[in-house]
Amino acid sequence: MKFISYLYKGKEGYGIVDKDSIVPMDALLNQLGKEVPKNLLEFIETYSDSLIEDLKAILSKEGLEKIPYDGVKITAPIPYPRRNVFCLGKNYEEHALEVKSLPSGEAAVPKYPIYFSKIAYPCIGHRDKVIIPKEYSNKIDYEVELAIVIGRDGRDIPIEKAEDYIFGYTIANDITARDIQRKHSQWFKGKSLDTFTPVGPYIVHKSQIGFPVELDIACKVNGEVRQKSNTKHMIFHIPYIISDLSRGLTLRAGDIILTGTPAGVGMGFDPPRFLKVGDVVECYIEKIGTLVNTIE
Ligand code: MG
Repeated sequence: MKFISYLYKGKEGYGIVDKDSIVPMDALLNQLGKEVPKNLLEFIETYSDSLIEDLKAILSKEGLEKIPYDGVKITAPIPYPRRNVFCLGKNYEEHALEVKSLPSGEAAVPKYPIYFSKIAYPCIGHRDKVIIPKEYSNKIDYEVELAIVIGRDGRDIPIEKAEDYIFGYTIANDITARDIQRKHSQWFKGKSLDTFTPVGPYIVHKSQIGFPVELDIACKVNGEVRQKSNTKHMIFHIPYIISDLSRGLTLRAGDIILTGTPAGVGMGFDPPRFLKVGDVVECYIEKIGTLVNTIE
């Protein structure tokens, strides 16, 4: 089940992708006699896993109101997260080795997760433009990442219960200004510039992904494959991340966690290959889809 947020005829909406159509959530929830949360974030904050089964049953009915997938402007699934987006740095070994020079301590491959956060307010959506702030940076880089969307509040989550706290998964591109990142001794600002967090095109419910999460992940720039791996190669896996991050820190429904990027980022090449105006970046994850953004 793919949850999508969109603009249709100038109005914000959200719903479920059904082949080449979208079924608006109000059409589905009205049939169940349920109140309709204002947006996908509020839906995630109030849903329960049993509702997913009810939605599936209604989706199989004839005569549902649908809108054409090609007729909407897709937005980020959660354009305005309530808090910063959580991120992991250096969570694939080959990537950790290619970026040794980044400030984060001596060890190339981390012994403990490197957590940081970025402001994504808003996250931009599928086919939106990443704008290079040319007066401040000319070393803009891509990072395809699997993003976890948390489905319920939790603190001190046991590792074996981690999946219960997940709503689903989406794709993010953790755009980074490497010159700003390197100048500061931490990563926050170089990753928090406006338009630097494309997310989408939609959130796939966890029931369609399976556990453990082992998905091919790739990034192309202008059609050329730059990153290619599988999420099974993460150093710190999803249950560990959720359990460890939630120790003494309550995760909230709707929180987004970016799980790190595989090798092949622009700064890993010699000479580096940073993004330029006009570039098209495609971030792909198996079973989820492709998030496409152009650079301006
Ligand atoms: Mg990253």
